[in-house]
Amino acid sequence: MINKATKEIVLKPSILVVDDEERIRDGCQRVLVQDGFEVATADCGAKGLEMIERQHFDIILLDLMMPSISGFDVLAQVKAQHPDSTIIVISGYATVEHSIEAMKRGAFDFIPKPFSPEQLRLMVAKAIEYTRALQDIANEKSRMRKLINRLSDGVMATDRDKRVVLCNPAFRRMVRYQEDVAIGRPAGEVLRSEQLEHLIDQTLAMPEEDFLELAEEWSPSRESGGPDLVYSARCLPFRDRLGRNVGAILVLHDITAMKRLDQVRSDFVSMVAHEVRSPLNSILAQIKVLSDGLAGPVSPKQNEILGRVSARIQGLVDLSSELLDLARIESGLILQEKEKLDLAQILREQSEFHRPRAESRSISLELIEGGPLKPVIANRRNVEEIVSNLLGNAVNYSPDGARIELSGAVENDYVRLSVKDTGFGISPEDQERIFAPFYRVKDEKTRMIVGTGLGLAIVKRIVEAHDGWLRVESEVGRGSTFHVYLPSADE
Ligand code: ADP
Repeated sequence: MINKATKEIVLKPSILVVDDEERIRDGCQRVLVQDGFEVATADCGAKGLEMIERQHFDIILLDLMMPSISGFDVLAQVKAQHPDSTIIVISGYATVEHSIEAMKRGAFDFIPKPFSPEQLRLMVAKAIEYTRALQDIANEKSRMRKLINRLSDGVMATDRDKRVVLCNPAFRRMVRYQEDVAIGRPAGEVLRSEQLEHLIDQTLAMPEEDFLELAEEWSPSRESGGPDLVYSARCLPFRDRLGRNVGAILVLHDITAMKRLDQVRSDFVSMVAHEVRSPLNSILAQIKVLSDGLAGPVSPKQNEILGRVSARIQGLVDLSSELLDLARIESGLILQEKEKLDLAQILREQSEFHRPRAESRSISLELIEGGPLKPVIANRRNVEEIVSNLLGNAVNYSPDGARIELSGAVENDYVRLSVKDTGFGISPEDQERIFAPFYRVKDEKTRMIVGTGLGLAIVKRIVEAHDGWLRVESEVGRGSTFHVYLPSADE
């Protein structure tokens, strides 16, 4: 419905002709009505202004030389009160000075009398195009403003002089700013936090060749005795087309609940590690004492049993170490610095890194370089970990002589990384499960391959922490392809 209404305004603009010459008024009206426009006329400036007060006109054809109020005065008033109307000046005394003056005062263009219907049509068509572009921008702006105002994350933007140019209600609440107006104020006054102000300073001073999203934890209670909450504060530069910093954008996200859960989890994991791993290690040590014969002679049969017991206990020790690793990686994902990354370079580095191991088993590892990849804003170590895990798996779960292809491509607003192998493949049921922590497919082909079942769980967590997604296509006996989608930086 809204779309239709907008379209109608754009497709059928309303036009007002203000001219004291009846011939011109009627002529314009006839031509434009024929072309399907809604056209009103006014025979003097005062009447024109009156009509403009009552109704919005998209385009105003305005004579400059009229008795009583001059066209210049009408122009000034319309520009001040109805900036959305596009004004085309018409005048019998067309001089360069006049046209320059009218344009300076905000007219869209100038059409000298006498003009042909064709000239009029051309000029109106040009003005419509301009009006449409203005409307698109205005619609987009108001959509963005509504969206930002409704976000539960706090968003603030500054200009390069560190003055606030945007500040949504959530942000004001988070920094407990209670004054009426934040826009135009120095950022420091609104933030009242040295830590956040320092983030903005660092961002504004960031050199052109870097694009970093700085991230820190911020607790209002630490600085100003505010509520006991924890926010992630992310700050990134806002740049113009020439890559110059024209401001900074600061986003606050409440991570209090996540931090509390993380604390509970890490307490639990340390408890497991301590209460389980230490006794297991001491059992292992004592078994070794037995098997080394230090507590009396051990028969070969007994030794074999002790060996099996040790192996199972070692498995439990490894498992608790992996639990610790997973917990560490997951808490690292809550908050981390991101930068603008060239994925093509990471793909090249990773393929070089994994190639020797692949080639040692006659597996070919090919990097397919298609078109240029858009950059992504991501944490470098994390992206390397994604590619490395997928490549490592492709090598592990492929027979000697297999083929692996690594590629990247741009798909809409995402950059897609794909790792394709001609390996063992994964059954449809297992495709659902392999992303769960510790899940490993156990069949005669994979039984002997050493692994923890954590790689893909970590890949999934990292991808999701970067607002991306991943999927697998696979057929048993033919091979698998893992696709990772990361949002591209829209600059
Ligand atoms: P790990 O490799 O340590 O077992 P992952 O989480 O990386 O742990 O993988 C989980 C399981 O998914 C693996 O045990 C394997 O069975 C299966 N898998 C992963 N990648 C592939 C692949 N490229 N081809 C076939 N199976 C795979």
